[in-house]
Amino acid sequence: MSYTGRCACGKVTLQIGAAPLTTRQCWCRQCQALAAGGATNNAIFPAEAVHIEGPLAASTWQAASGNTLTFHFCPACGTQVYAQSSARPTMKTVRFGVIDQPHDLAPQAVIWTDDAPAWAVFDPALERFARQPPAPAPSSPTVSQG
Ligand SMILES: [Zn+2]
Ligand SMILES: [Zn+2]
Repeated sequence: MSYTGRCACGKVTLQIGAAPLTTRQCWCRQCQALAAGGATNNAIFPAEAVHIEGPLAASTWQAASGNTLTFHFCPACGTQVYAQSSARPTMKTVRFGVIDQPHDLAPQAVIWTDDAPAWAVFDPALERFARQPPAPAPSSPTVSQG
C-alpha cells in the first residue's frame, strides 16, 4: 500500500509507504477551526512510512485530548499536512486533504462527537466516540514496510 500527496500549492509533497493504522473523522473544536467548521479526516500512519519534501512550518498546541499536538503545515499556502501527538511519537496523523485521489481511504470512526455542531451528520455505519478514543495499535498486519 502506498500513497502520494501534495499541499494546495504543491511546494510540499508526500510519499507514504504503508497502509494506515486507522482512519478517523474528528469533530473536536480545534479541528473545526482548522476545517472551516467541519470535521477533519485523518489517516494515522507509522511515522517511518511518511516521507515529506518541501518546507514545513509548525505550531504546537495542547489538544482537547490533553496531549500536546504539533501541527505541520505548508508555510506558503497554509495547508495542514500532518499532526504529531506527544502521546504517539511513532505515528503521524496525515490529513486526507493532502493525499492524492483516487485513494482507498475513508473514515473508520467518528471522534469528538460531543463537540460537533447540531447540523453534523454521522455515518451510522461508523464506530462513534463522544471524546478521545484509545490510540490505535502501534502496528497492524496490513502494514507493509517501504
Ligand atoms: Zn503549499
Ligand atoms: Zn480534532
